[in-house]
Amino acid sequence: MLIDVAAAGVCGTELHFLDGLLTPGRTPITLGHEVAGVVAEVGEAVEHVQPGDRVAVHYLHACGRCRWCRTGDDHLCDAPLGFLAFGTDGGFAEQVVVPASATVPVPSGLDLAEAAALCCSGTTALHAVDVAGLTSGSSAVVYGTGGVGLALVQMLSEAGARPIAVARNPERLALARELGAETTVNAASEDVAAAIRAATGGAGADVVFELVGTRATGAAALASLAKRGTLVYVGYSFDRVEFDPLSLVVPEQRIVTSVGNRRSELVEALDLAARGRLVTRVTRHPLEDVQQVLDDLRAGRVLGRAVLIP
Ligand SMILES: [Zn+2]
Ligand SMILES: [Zn+2]
Repeated sequence: MLIDVAAAGVCGTELHFLDGLLTPGRTPITLGHEVAGVVAEVGEAVEHVQPGDRVAVHYLHACGRCRWCRTGDDHLCDAPLGFLAFGTDGGFAEQVVVPASATVPVPSGLDLAEAAALCCSGTTALHAVDVAGLTSGSSAVVYGTGGVGLALVQMLSEAGARPIAVARNPERLALARELGAETTVNAASEDVAAAIRAATGGAGADVVFELVGTRATGAAALASLAKRGTLVYVGYSFDRVEFDPLSLVVPEQRIVTSVGNRRSELVEALDLAARGRLVTRVTRHPLEDVQQVLDDLRAGRVLGRAVLIP
């Protein structure tokens, strides 16, 4: 299916490709895995979508047949038909070709730029909340307040948890508070673990979502965990993180990981956004400004999600 790209979100993953932490399946390749647009052409066998439809793309185009796809965990698909920006050309372009099965209708009334941003930020947040196994009233730290972090804050309040946002940028912390964070911790000026212990009556956090993935943030995240606490890794960097098993065993803490999202979670995120329950702050930029946007993202100057408009 051929899609006229209406908007493509710029994600931290882009920087991982540019830095060589992630290697695409082939080069050259077009980046951009958060894509929404309008269907331009469909293949003969496609029946459920037609030209003119507004769609968002699930960036991992699942095969629908492997053991993971059959149980709904299609984000772990063994034999994807395509993988935007990772293996096949992504959405920093005027048009993109994807299998029709990888598209999801965008509810009427939802802006396509917001829909694009949700394809990774909002959906990654939904999946991470699912992986964490939260209970209502849990204290949950969101370590990093980019697009995923701000969506996480909202999904956590929605789930009845008590979100604590950690970041170095005061503007981002203010936005996190506006979106539902009960407590904010400025990692540039505060001892993160001590601040989280203080905010949780000394107990530590039931869940910490690690969206940064450096050695320093990993250490602070582990030091912030409560007994039986769960550290959820979403972010990564070139760093390695050290821990001694004893310090995890005695308080029965867990480390789990969460990658991307299921197609069903994209459907859910778009629905939540259309009903105003998941807000994505987007800033719009012309496609030709991609380098400036990437520089801003690297410098931590992007508030919410930057979206490229071809
Ligand atoms: Zn992404
Ligand atoms: Zn599959």
